[in-house]
Parts: sequence; structure tokens; C-alpha cells
Amino acid sequence: MYNIRSVCPTVAAMFGIAPFTDAPVMEEVLSMLPEQPAENRRTDRVLMYNPDAVAWWIFEKYRELLTPALEMDPLVLRMGSVMPSVTPVCFASMYSGLMPQNHGILSYTKPVLTVTTLFDAMIGRGLKPAICSTGTDSISMIFRNRDMDYFIFDTPDEVNDKVEELIRADRHDLIVAYNGNYDSTMHRCGPEGAESLEALASNAASWRRLCGAAEEAWRGKNWASAFATDHGCHRLPDGRGSHGEDIPEDMNVVHMWRCGRR
Ligand SMILES: [Zn+2]
Repeated sequence: MYNIRSVCPTVAAMFGIAPFTDAPVMEEVLSMLPEQPAENRRTDRVLMYNPDAVAWWIFEKYRELLTPALEMDPLVLRMGSVMPSVTPVCFASMYSGLMPQNHGILSYTKPVLTVTTLFDAMIGRGLKPAICSTGTDSISMIFRNRDMDYFIFDTPDEVNDKVEELIRADRHDLIVAYNGNYDSTMHRCGPEGAESLEALASNAASWRRLCGAAEEAWRGKNWASAFATDHGCHRLPDGRGSHGEDIPEDMNVVHMWRCGRR
């Protein structure tokens, strides 16, 4: 089983950027895209859809809820998260390729990362990343201060509308979209609460919608998209939800990948 930090070298490799940490590249993801030796890269565009807290056990139990996303027949991977399994720690690992002791975020704090991230490596190669996220959520905070575009909104719906606009405008090589709605409802109503399952279904539908936009706007290009969550979740005795522990419910998550070819 791969760790979520393998996302970083895998997307880097798609753009022809050599790994800059020891996290292994996910060859089965990379091989979905054709080699372009002359260009030293496999992809033109990548869309990272980052829903929060979609545990592997939830995915397995409520697979039919994610049918809108699964209809696209993505590559499904069970991934390991990092400890403590909280949002800033996990997304720092996902986009730096580093374990928490090496990227420096070791608890629920949101300092700006100073280690090399996927975004820095891309900017160094003249590529253009963009982040679309909400409020003061982790992804909005820890990757700041880079020479790149940030689009920060109040709601996931506004984020997804902007991401669709960006896909169609085709000005960025990498677009990161953060949707924290499942995490919010899961904490309040439990991982399997009705409102939480609605949020989960809406995450799947949002990814499908954005991939549909990519399919149209990026026709004639090679592209990849991931549904890549940060950590899982578990039910507390009082019925609410939580995460952060070193237990399978929190540490095993679902990632899905699909791609389009020239
Ligand atoms: Zn999270």
C-alpha cells in the first residue's frame, strides 16, 4: 500500500520533474499516461480534487454513493495516511512527498511550509499551479507565499465553479481543488450521518463534473485527475465523528485516478 506522500513524486514525474524526496512514484498511476520522451513528460494538465476525510471503510461501505464518480472507471487505490492524521499534516505530506517529521507540521497547526513542495518544483520548471480552496482551511494556508495563483472562497460550491472556469480557461498546468464539506458534516453528524453521506455523494458528483469539464476543455491534451483525500475518520461513542488517531479507520483512505489522452 502506498502512502499519500507518493502523490507528490507521481505528479512531479508526470510533468517530467525528477523525485525530490524518497517517496516512491506510483508506477500504476504513471503508466495510465503515454510516455512522451521528446517532451520528457507524460501529461499536459493535472487536476487534483481533494475532498477531506473520505476513509477507505466509508468508500467500501458506501461505494454505490460514489457511483457517479465510479462510472468513469477510475483506478482505485487504498492509501495510507500519516500521523497525526489531521488535515494540515496530511496535505503537507501529500504535496511535499515528506513524512511529517521532515516537513515540520506535526500537529493541527497551519504554518506556511518552507520545504520544497510540488508547487515549488513546478514553478522552478516554468509550470503554473493554482490552488482553489475555502477560508482558512489547511490548503488555503500552508502553501502560501509562492509565485502562483490562489483562489480562496467561502464555500465548496464557489470553489468548484471557479475550478471549472479555470479548467476551461486553460491557463494552469496544475489545478488543486479543496472540498471540506464531508469533513465538516462528519465531525457534526458522524461518518454515516445522513448529511455526511449527502456531502460524500456531492464530492463524487463534483469530481465527475470537473473531470467532464477537463474532458471537453483539455481535448487533444494528455491529462490526469485524482480524487485524493487526506485522512479517514471514525465514529465517536456520542455519534459524532473524529480523526487523528493511528487506527485503520483514520489511516486508510481512498484515492482514485483517471486520465485523458491526446
Ligand atoms: Zn482533513
